Amino acid sequence: MEVLYYSTRSNGQPIKASQAILKGLSDDGGLFVPDHVPALDKSLKELAGMSYQQVAYEVMKLFLTDFTEEELKNCIAKAYDEKFDTDVIAPMAEAEGAYFLELFHGPTIAFKDMALSILPHLLITSARKNQIKNEIVILTATSGDTGKAALAGFANVEGTRIIVFYPKNGVSPIQEKQMVTQKGANTLVVGIHGNFDDAQTGVKKIFSDKALAKEMDEKGFQFSSANSINVGRLVPQVCYYVYAYARLLAEGRIAEGEKINIVVPTGNFGNILAAFYAKNMGLPIDKLICASNENKVLFDFFSTGVYDRNREFMLTSSPSMDILISSNLERLIYRIAGNDAKKNQELMAALSGQGKYVIDDAMKAGLADFYGNYASEQETAAIIKKIYEDCGYVIDTHTAVAAAVYEKYQAETKDQTKTVIASTASPFKFTRSVMNAIDAKYDSMTDFELVDELSKLANVKVPNAIEEIRTAPVLHDKQCDSDQMQNVVREFLGL
Ligand SMILES: *Cc1c(COP(=O)(O)O)cnc(C)c1O
Repeated sequence: MEVLYYSTRSNGQPIKASQAILKGLSDDGGLFVPDHVPALDKSLKELAGMSYQQVAYEVMKLFLTDFTEEELKNCIAKAYDEKFDTDVIAPMAEAEGAYFLELFHGPTIAFKDMALSILPHLLITSARKNQIKNEIVILTATSGDTGKAALAGFANVEGTRIIVFYPKNGVSPIQEKQMVTQKGANTLVVGIHGNFDDAQTGVKKIFSDKALAKEMDEKGFQFSSANSINVGRLVPQVCYYVYAYARLLAEGRIAEGEKINIVVPTGNFGNILAAFYAKNMGLPIDKLICASNENKVLFDFFSTGVYDRNREFMLTSSPSMDILISSNLERLIYRIAGNDAKKNQELMAALSGQGKYVIDDAMKAGLADFYGNYASEQETAAIIKKIYEDCGYVIDTHTAVAAAVYEKYQAETKDQTKTVIASTASPFKFTRSVMNAIDAKYDSMTDFELVDELSKLANVKVPNAIEEIRTAPVLHDKQCDSDQMQNVVREFLGL
């Protein structure tokens, strides 16, 4: 059955998947949502016998219904290849009574690679399908990991350019080095004086500027988004939850149909929303555990029904989750409002006006699948040390937030359901925070000394992504104020 996509903010004509991928964000500022979440049409047993690529096809074909089998399989084959350092693409490690689904084996060692290695192919295919002649300009705000993963995906892809804005003082040294050493004449990386929300707001503003869009079109350009709001990122993220379940079943760790919990370290709410979609496809998932760092706006929302971004923005050791406006939550809000675009639009207007909205009891009831909690900086560091000491397994700071929240959840509920924790980054990406958590003595070492020390400690080879930047020259040093972002874009495109 065909799946069409509506905006969360108006009841206009629905569009096809390829069109939603091309547009990224709807003209009215809304996000595209499928008119229904399709049910898996293969049994769990059948899925258990499949490779990552095969599972990805079985999931994606149900959402991206205007892609041919050949087109989709082609995109999948180009995305999930030797760029990943393991054939299984997303391996699982058992530690501390949970399964860590390692989503960081791609080219930039964070889970963003799972979607951003396929997005360029989905986008180019979508452009071809819709007879688009314009050059596609990817505009992205990043809290650290999206930027590099998008740059790696789009660098030197013909017919595309990519511009990445990141908060100059809001990413880890390794994240910054990864981005500013990016090669490719079609790439631009800019540090903004502000935080991630400023960058994201600036990008949204540029996207919704109709006059600029018209001018761009006249010059042969059009924007698209690689941010996690793009349907072309959301759908590939559903795949690994289905794959994880299939692996657990294949390995005899769960029985067919047995429910599992999923814990996701959350920022923009994209990754956990994908897990929610997987559940709605029929994957046996019980609780979706939403883990926040000290920017605990989602925890407060799940506890009270009030979403309030009016608070201090905290810089934490899990910078990719330092977010006060979780964009993808809008898709859930729309849904629990009964797919009511008007109601959602009012709540989002309140968010942008007063920085706050309140949902009613009926909507609150729609959140029953979710459990929210958060981990302090201290709790995050403590769990890294604990899991290392107990199991010799080293996790990154984001994954640690999830592990700490899972510990709280278990203490609170005594729930014994088998649980998968989304492991969203390699510890090598956040080496200093990880090593400091294990022992304060490491603080005097340089970043790359720490990398080598971590490699010894965890008995894991230093990933290629890190080796590459040891000596790479800085190719991007542009900075700007957040109100100057549009000018930077104009300059790069020669407008
Ligand atoms: C992006 C990111 C997250 C947050 O994911 P969302 O989909 O934005 O909720 C968590 N951990 C890491 C390492 C990330 O890069």
